[in-house]
Amino acid sequence: MPASLPAAWRDHAARNLPRYTSYPTSVSFTPADGEAELRGWLAAMRPAQPISAYVHVPFCRRLCWYCGCHTTVVHAYDRVGAFHEVLLREVDLWADALGPHAGMAHLHFGGGSPNALAPADFRSLVRRLADRLRLRPGAEVAAELDPGVLSPAFIDAAGEAGVTRVSLGVQTFDPEVQARVNRIQPTSLVTEAVERIRAAGVAGVNFDLMYGLPGQTPGNVRGSVMRALELRPDRVAVFGYAHVPWMKKHQVMIQEAELAGVDGRWAQAEAADEAMLAGGYVRIGLDHYALPDDPLSRAAEAGRLRRNFQGYTDDPAPVLIPVGPSSIGRFNEGFVQNAVATDAWSAAIGRGELPVFRRLAVTAEDELRAAVIERLMCEMAVDVGEVCRARGFDAGALDEAVAAAADLEADGLATVRGRTVRVPEAARRMMRVVAACFDACLPQTARRHAKAV
Ligand code: SF4
Repeated sequence: MPASLPAAWRDHAARNLPRYTSYPTSVSFTPADGEAELRGWLAAMRPAQPISAYVHVPFCRRLCWYCGCHTTVVHAYDRVGAFHEVLLREVDLWADALGPHAGMAHLHFGGGSPNALAPADFRSLVRRLADRLRLRPGAEVAAELDPGVLSPAFIDAAGEAGVTRVSLGVQTFDPEVQARVNRIQPTSLVTEAVERIRAAGVAGVNFDLMYGLPGQTPGNVRGSVMRALELRPDRVAVFGYAHVPWMKKHQVMIQEAELAGVDGRWAQAEAADEAMLAGGYVRIGLDHYALPDDPLSRAAEAGRLRRNFQGYTDDPAPVLIPVGPSSIGRFNEGFVQNAVATDAWSAAIGRGELPVFRRLAVTAEDELRAAVIERLMCEMAVDVGEVCRARGFDAGALDEAVAAAADLEADGLATVRGRTVRVPEAARRMMRVVAACFDACLPQTARRHAKAV
């Protein structure tokens, strides 16, 4: 990719755009009017379809100033313990409401910090999910964990519970940057956590790293990547900090003046990219990297890479069960989101109701646009006419969007031949700009998203 941000890309890079982990994005969801619609979707499950589940644990033991997640800091365990009991009841509610399915292919814990749960509670939660949603043999069980507060007992519990992959929120190894974002975690903590995770039999280790934080420079971003690669994680995601204090109030702890502009962010992302490639990793989609023999790399090579709420995945399941406050689920007919506030979520479960508060039924056109956007985000190329025909549309159904992509050609962000749209390798980091051409919801939702770079 270019060493510095090309002048022609500067305005595009400053645009507020979705990350396209779904289309339409969650800002298009509307309030759910009772459970009837969702229960209809659940009853209409297809017996041959595998399912996945996402479990959100909305608690942390510390608040990082950059955090963009739904979470609350807790210091006493009673609130988390009570939450765990409600979570178990929610698993039962979903299991009872689901129509026939082919078992759970992928189970993902995020947050917040799943390791805010006590080790025994995490073990019992995994067991309940595995029993009631019928975890398939060989399924992936992944957990995002905060290495700064990760106990050896929790790691051992994760291993015993059958966790197959752990994602550690490393973000940066630079102590000064850590101090500026309120996330102090000495390198030795991460090193010891990785050693223990592997010793506990968890085969996959992912790292999340960040650029664009206050105090970050291309030099210290490169240094963090090189230090991370000494621990040989299987996958690394390199995210740009999204400064959206109008949505995440605690981000006011980070002054806008402390942050690099688009040129600085580009240089930092570029430094990370160079170090990842030099370390022998391959690029996956927008911002992920993996070892060449990792299943994600193989999926990308074979055209099986998928984009979902957890980022990039090889999980083929078309149905995602949302568990925990704010979790988003996907069904054949549309999306649902659980109540964001833990009290409202808990009260609904107490009444024996599925705790869904927002929803979106997708249209055939939504699904068509989603398919095009997903291919662009995963493969950086799509034959739009072919996708239209395969979904029963006229080959020219999205010609207006193809023409919008063609307008990007002069700036070197896309090439369009017939109805085939490609993102050049040099413009990989800008792929959201090309994907946005196919987003019919964008004008109404633009302000709610973060900058493209
Ligand atoms: S540990 Fe993760 S979820 Fe919790 S505050 Fe920090 S960034 Fe947010």
